[in-house]
Amino acid sequence: MSGHSKDLSRPAPTMAAGAVDTVHGHQGLRLEEPLLFEIDNPGAVGVDLPDPGATENRLGGLERHAPIGLPSASEPEIVRHYTRLSQKNYAIDMGTYPLGSCTMKHNPRLNEKMVRLPGFANLHPMQPDATTQGALELIDNLAHWLKELTGMPAVAMSPAAGAHGELCGVMAIRAALDDREGGPTSRRRILVPDSAHGTNPATAAACGFTVDAIPSDARGRVDVKAFADKLDDDVAGIMITNPNTCGLFENDMIEIAGLIHDAGGYFYCDGANFNAIVSRVRPGDLGIDCMHINLHKTFSTPHGGGGPGAGPVVLSDALAPFAPTPWVVHGGDGFSLVEHGADAGDAKPFGRLKGFHGQMGMFVRAYAYMLSHGRDGLRQVANDAVLNANYVMAQLSDVMTAAFDGPCMHECLFDDRFLKDSGVTTLDFAKAMIDEGYHPMTMYFPLVVHGAMLIEPTETESRRELDNFIAVVRSLVARVQSGDSDAFAAAPRLTPRRRLDETAAARSPVLRWTPEIPTAEAAE
Ligand SMILES: *Cc1c(COP(=O)(O)O)cnc(C)c1O
Repeated sequence: MSGHSKDLSRPAPTMAAGAVDTVHGHQGLRLEEPLLFEIDNPGAVGVDLPDPGATENRLGGLERHAPIGLPSASEPEIVRHYTRLSQKNYAIDMGTYPLGSCTMKHNPRLNEKMVRLPGFANLHPMQPDATTQGALELIDNLAHWLKELTGMPAVAMSPAAGAHGELCGVMAIRAALDDREGGPTSRRRILVPDSAHGTNPATAAACGFTVDAIPSDARGRVDVKAFADKLDDDVAGIMITNPNTCGLFENDMIEIAGLIHDAGGYFYCDGANFNAIVSRVRPGDLGIDCMHINLHKTFSTPHGGGGPGAGPVVLSDALAPFAPTPWVVHGGDGFSLVEHGADAGDAKPFGRLKGFHGQMGMFVRAYAYMLSHGRDGLRQVANDAVLNANYVMAQLSDVMTAAFDGPCMHECLFDDRFLKDSGVTTLDFAKAMIDEGYHPMTMYFPLVVHGAMLIEPTETESRRELDNFIAVVRSLVARVQSGDSDAFAAAPRLTPRRRLDETAAARSPVLRWTPEIPTAEAAE
């Protein structure tokens, strides 16, 4: 077993250039962390359990004889391991996180206080409805506000993220088309603008549709003429993000809605950027049929690293009957859940997307956020998000190159023309930001803009923070102009790891730890 305590001969991991070569690879008080399996300290335990004494074995010969192969560690070793791992994450609670399209905003602590109330925190999803009336009422109230804010008649609460909400919406579209045609729909094509987030075409393809890209026009919006030319009776729908991923409001939504409906298709709106228009624009008024809402973007719930999230989907009258189970109903006996298609009356749910009823913890946080802001406060959120993005754009556009003319919505988009002939790429520029203590903006997305840098400050960054960020970006541009491209090629210098082979990591990830000596032999 490779316990790290006895492995002084092991070379320290490759550290940043210029960093000191230390015995275990630690740098100052920033500690290297091995895998839990490498920590393995045979015999150590974190709990004291009483000796079970003599018990009758009722396992019928199924008891385990070989060691289970899990690492052992004492309580302090475990606590340190997970604390160190937690400190390796960059987080919105540590600093500005200007990742465009992600709406990395502050998660108010009031939300956390509310979700820790024992009545919410200790709920079990299998409790009888009679004992969870308050929770069901909260889900119903949150659904009400999501419908009010979007101007839509129905909402499916269970999807677990934006991408899952897209799956929900496109499955509802497919179910509605199948229903209309009395069998599997002959409409096989979904139109997606070339500026779309990758999840849009991925969702359409996952639902069995072919994806047909619509070009953007010179204004960074959907080219309406090119879109209209693609309409035919095999089109199932269109997916448009508004405001779009160039940080611009799609001004032709009503015309697009009319055209897609006349052609017999449905209108999916990607609502990931709803933060920019919440309480100002009701997407339902623009003629859409469904839209997911990322509660972690607009409504300040934590972005869980792939963990439990919530992406409710609002639905038009045309799609509402196909919404997945479960949903909350409100009758004489209080609140209850419709769990099965057989109990759904005239509705024709396309099925179920997930166990239980959605992410209650996210619902409580999002509802707390809504109540603490109110309708006018949410409007202020949208105003300030747009103001902050335009402030950053105005402060940087004399030294960087804005991708499109005019003001932006919640995020500002630069291309790499300002780096032309400097030998510095968008990637180099982003890596240099890390050394300066800033998480980079979104890079190389949207794909329609060359060397894109997409900056979304959100409304929760103060003027002071924005000015600090702007000063760093401006100083890096000055360094580009001074011709010091070597400094950029070497960045980041100060991180525990420097440039990784990201392509190899994505294409051939090593996800499994293999012991140096098989566990069974080692234990003998
Ligand atoms: C974030 C995002 C998504 C996906 O949402 P997740 O909650 O991350 O699954 C889809 N579209 C756009 C434009 C986004 O920014």
